[in-house]
Amino acid sequence: MKFELPKLNYQFTDLEPIIDAKTVEIHYTKHHQTYVNNLNAAVEKLPGFEVGTIEEILKNIPTLPQEIQVVVRNNGGGFHNHNLYWEQFSKSADTLPKGDLGVAVDTAFGNLQTLQETMTKAGLARFGSGWVWLVLNDKKLEVYSTANQDSPLMENKTPLLGIDVWEHAYYLNYQNRRQEYLEKIWDIIDWVIVEKRFIEGLK
Ligand code: MN
Repeated sequence: MKFELPKLNYQFTDLEPIIDAKTVEIHYTKHHQTYVNNLNAAVEKLPGFEVGTIEEILKNIPTLPQEIQVVVRNNGGGFHNHNLYWEQFSKSADTLPKGDLGVAVDTAFGNLQTLQETMTKAGLARFGSGWVWLVLNDKKLEVYSTANQDSPLMENKTPLLGIDVWEHAYYLNYQNRRQEYLEKIWDIIDWVIVEKRFIEGLK
């Protein structure tokens, strides 16, 4: 197996009450695992094909053999998006954007609250399933959303923070209330992780 489900740094119950344990368990052990399995099955169909890192693959979808482009786009995107999603959470995170990231947030959005409201709006405007992102685009902060499991890497943007707005991410706790999920999720965002991605993305 080329790609593996990454370990979580917390227990399923640790993100409560923001994300309930059952949602974390199903989302991680079923949805995320399925993207991993389908991605592996797709690349294993191509003996001799040089498989790079998941980031390299997502940046170069059009260079893949035609017959696996769609399955890799969906499942490779799903794999990497969820890796980022789980990694950026921590149990009762109480951090805020600091240092150069804090300055960049204020420069781009005015303040953190405006960034959060912008992400909520973008997440609500995403019709159907997808993701809302804080990214680096040409080294500047930007908020936007992607459809399905598309990754910002496919558009040469660097994902810093990604919120899954597929219903499977919030339905047990929030039912149809996507806005409430988007407003509460900030309580478990670990800005130290986001800052690490920001610093790496500026290199
Ligand atoms: Mn998901």
